[in-house]
Formats: sequence, C-alpha cells, structure tokens
Amino acid sequence: MDIEEFRRAGYQAIDRICDMYYAMQDSKRPVVSQAEPGYLRQALPASPPEKGEDYALIADDYQKLIVPGLTLWQHPSFFAYFPTASTFEAILGDLYATSVPNPGFNWSCSPASTELEAVVMDWSAQMLGLDPAFYNTSGVGGGVLQTTASDSALVAIVAARARYTSLHPSVALEDLVVYTTTQTHSLGAKAALVLGLACRSLPVKAEENFALRGEILKVALKEDHAKGKRPFVLVATVGTTSSGAVDRIDEIGAVVSEVPGMWMHVDAAWAGIALACPEYREFCQLDAINTYADSFCTNFHKWGLVNFDASTLWVRNRKHLTDALDITPEFLRTKHGDAGTVIDYRNWHLALGRRFRSLKVWFVLRGYGVEGFRTYIRRSIGLNETFADLVRGSSVLELVTTPSLALSVIRVSPSISKMSAQELNVLNRVFWSRVSSRPEIYLTQTDLNGVFCVRFAVGSLMTTEEHIKQAFNILTEEAEEALRLYHSTPPA
Ligand SMILES: *Cc1c(COP(=O)(O)O)cnc(C)c1O
Repeated sequence: MDIEEFRRAGYQAIDRICDMYYAMQDSKRPVVSQAEPGYLRQALPASPPEKGEDYALIADDYQKLIVPGLTLWQHPSFFAYFPTASTFEAILGDLYATSVPNPGFNWSCSPASTELEAVVMDWSAQMLGLDPAFYNTSGVGGGVLQTTASDSALVAIVAARARYTSLHPSVALEDLVVYTTTQTHSLGAKAALVLGLACRSLPVKAEENFALRGEILKVALKEDHAKGKRPFVLVATVGTTSSGAVDRIDEIGAVVSEVPGMWMHVDAAWAGIALACPEYREFCQLDAINTYADSFCTNFHKWGLVNFDASTLWVRNRKHLTDALDITPEFLRTKHGDAGTVIDYRNWHLALGRRFRSLKVWFVLRGYGVEGFRTYIRRSIGLNETFADLVRGSSVLELVTTPSLALSVIRVSPSISKMSAQELNVLNRVFWSRVSSRPEIYLTQTDLNGVFCVRFAVGSLMTTEEHIKQAFNILTEEAEEALRLYHSTPPA
C-alpha cells in the first residue's frame, strides 16, 4: 500500500466505522454476537496467503467475517460487566498514536510521549480530586498509564513488596501475604499467583454492603502476625465488580498505617472515574484515599470516555516503583536519564516498550473538558437511578443491594410465595438463562455471598431512557416467564 492508497483506504475505513455507529444508534444490531464457536476458522483459509492480496478484499472481509463476530460493547443496550468507553476523540488519538510507532520506554524515544503522559496524569489527578502529592509535578509521587487495572495492581504489589522487604530484610518471602477481600477483583489473587505469594481474602458482610471494615482487618492482622505471617499489602476496592461496594478506606487505611511498611493499594478501576464529580467524592471516600492510599488506580477505558486501554495508576512515592523495577543496562542509558532530569517510564511498569496512550487521554480531556466529562458521568448515574426506580416499582424484580453509582444488582423476587434461599437461586438461574439468550440486551450475572443475582451496569454514551425502559421491559417479561416455568415444574 502506498501513501495515496492509504489515504483512500483510510477515508473508507472511517466511513464504514461511522455506518456501524449509525446502525447501533438505531438499535438495528443485536448487542451480542450470534456467532458460533469456530465460525471464523471455518471461514478463513488454513494458511496465510502466499502472495499479497488486494486491500479491497481485506477491507470487505473485515465487514463480512469480523463484524458479525463482534459483541458491541459501545451499544446503547450493553449493560454487562462494566462499560468500555468509546469516543471518537479517543479513536482519533489512538489513530495518531499508532501512526508514530514509538515504544516510549524512555524520554529520548520521543520526548512528546513521556511529557504528555506526565501532564495528562496530572490533569486527570486534578479532575479526580487526588491530593497534589500524587502529581508528577510533586517530584515525589506521580502517575503513569498502565494497560489494565490488573497490571496496575501487580506493579503496586511489586513496589509494596520491595518497600516491605527493604524495611524488614530478614522476612522470608514465603511469609509474605497479600490481603484482599472476598469481593476484591481477581486481580489481587492473580498478582499473588504471579509473584508466588500467599493471598488471604478477608470476609465482608451483606449487612455492611460488602465493605471491608477496620475491625475485620485488625483481627486478621493479629492472627497472621501470631503465626509469623507478614501481610504487607492490602488491595482495597472502591466500587467492587459484583456490587459496586466501597471498602471503608478510612477505617482500613488507619489500620494499615499502623503496620510498619504495609501498603494500601486502592483499586477503583470502574468507580474511580466518578471522583470527577464533587458530589460523589464522599461516597468514593476521596478524603481517606488522599490520606492513606499508597497507590490508586482507575480505568479511563471503562467509564472514562477513553478507548481501551488506559489504566491510570498513581503512587505516593515513585521511588518505590523505580526501586522495584529499575534495571538499566548500558544500551538504555541516556544523558537525561542519567542526570535524573526526565521520567523514564519503563521503570514504572513491567514491560520495556509502551504505547503512546496519553494522546487519546489528552484528546478526550480537551474535547469534553471537565464539565463535559462530569455531565456524562452524571447522565450514566441518572439513567441507573431511572432503572432502579423501575425495579423498586416492580412486582417481580427487586434490588439485591443499594444501587452504586451506575450499577444495580437485581433478582427475581416473587412477592406472594415464600421461597428458601436455594429455591430463589434456582428460580434466578432460570431467569438468567432466559435473559442471557436475548441478543438485544446484554447483562452479566454474579454471586453475592451465595445469592445468585444479575448486574445492570450503565455507561454507554448512546444509552437513553428509552433503552433503559426497553431493558426493564425485557427483564420483566423474562422474570414473569421464569416464575411461570418455575411454578409449573418445581424442582424435585
Ligand atoms: C474491571 C475491574 C478490574 C479489572 O480491570 P482490568 O483493567 O481488565 O484489569 C479490576 N477491578 C475492578 C474493581 C474492576 O471493576
């Protein structure tokens, strides 16, 4: 492909992307791909072509073969997992980023990529209300873009381990323990697995809205210390995956701060974005985060209008990251790096090379402004409130937990007959199997301390009240049908 062919193909690609967005707005396309497993292998040749093919064929095959296999995460009726952001500003930012294949591992690779990242991380920290200690301009703390919240947690735990073992050099690695809760995302257990460390998940209660309390943590620490174990990091959560629960960062932060060298990482992959709106800062425990967190992560690629991937990680002291991750062979040394006058972001994450992610964050923050960003967050939360109100007025559905920001957790609840917890779970699995076979909406299921339930997460830019009502109507229809089926064939 030469430059002029690229120009034409580029115009065509943007045209086709726009067509897809129009089709989604009209709800003409189901959310969930209807492809069967293995469909693509059947449709594609077993080997790569021997000779280069005409680009027109490739572009058409994308439409014909790939698009039908796409589940549309930006679809207005996508309520599964958590939203993944998609904005045209971010798509264009990424397009420019990919046109400059710069691996960004040090400042000299392309000064713009390091400098822009340092600036947009400070802009984002300001927008979210983080303490200036986390800004790059502080010279002590700082922010870095990671691929995912899982990478952010792993990096934070590596730094925590380095700090802890340097303070307590006689501690054996097998005595180190990563603390999570039963509601922490699996990233905590995954990081422990990768690092070969023990992990303990602390219990949380439904009556306390699944939040980790200080007392539970205190008791666990006492038990473990008595056994010679050394819990060195707590992964706390603001906005858990299952129910949007917020750990009591104030209580647990105070407890962690009394254990010499122990680290608190706050994983707010989804909910942290809501900190952009001052009215949600108390709910998300911003003051306690600012007081106690050693590191804080939120994903702009979830609810933050930036296309995958853009996980923002801030640390109170960048030295803990670089002490743990800095390896600088001769071929990576540079004049500025040696002089310490620039950030070399390779020492702030696991890989060497890194994408120019800050560009799309910059495009979005400028295109929306803080005000536009807040308007979008408030709209998602408002739409979820509309949904929650519909459920409150329903005779077949109920809320399982208090709605959290833009997330509701529901289940079928027959108002007349009394059912055991187990019977209710059976009924709800029937409901769920029906809901999950409806291609026009997409939700996901979860289990909250033994209660099977269904999550409804709002966040697509295109979602309107109509889509919320349509989803509620489908859920009601399937709840009624599940009740009818359940009562006509009760389980043995
Ligand atoms: C989505 C989510 C994660 C995982 O995010 P990745 O970026 O895919 O690793 C972790 N924690 C919470 C609370 C989440 O909502």
